[in-house]
Amino acid sequence: MNVAVRDFPDPQAVSPESCPALVLNADFRPLSYYPLSLWNWQDAIKAVFLDRVNIVSHYEKVIHSPSLEVKLPSVVSLKSYVKPAKYPAFTRFNVFLRDKFQCQYCGVSEDLTFDHVIPRSLGGKTLWNNVVAACSPCNLRKGGQLPKHAQMWPRQHPVQPTVYQLHANGRLFPPNYLHESWMDYLYWDSELEP
Ligand SMILES: [Zn+2]
Repeated sequence: MNVAVRDFPDPQAVSPESCPALVLNADFRPLSYYPLSLWNWQDAIKAVFLDRVNIVSHYEKVIHSPSLEVKLPSVVSLKSYVKPAKYPAFTRFNVFLRDKFQCQYCGVSEDLTFDHVIPRSLGGKTLWNNVVAACSPCNLRKGGQLPKHAQMWPRQHPVQPTVYQLHANGRLFPPNYLHESWMDYLYWDSELEP
């Protein structure tokens, strides 16, 4: 039946391109949360054969070569610990995450875009300390004005967040889709903190 096929797809029918591996540091925490450290299957397999990672968990999907067949890894851990970055990448997603997906002028969570607090036309830069999440209506209302002219100030003074701060905010917004084998490694440390 078609329904059964959709609900329980044959693992071999799954494209290897849709089998990324979650990459854990040697301490079994994700190498990076934002963005989540994922490798495509080719990079994951290459790292396995270069002996740089251990396979922690795998997909049912098998790939074949003339000499061997292997299940694609779904979780790998680095054999050598890598010091995590203290500051996250300046990305659109991370700005939204810092601002908890709320317009920094009115607080709504819909129709979000970005506002330059000091407009670009007045020399404002596209940096952590000058870009905030803003809904389209507020963005339009503020236009090319300075906060004092528009009488609109961000609720929080925008600053560069630490990875730790984004991580704390990220717990409020779990990703929509995670492979089940990843779940054990994403938030385990949260239960260890007081
Ligand atoms: Zn708004």
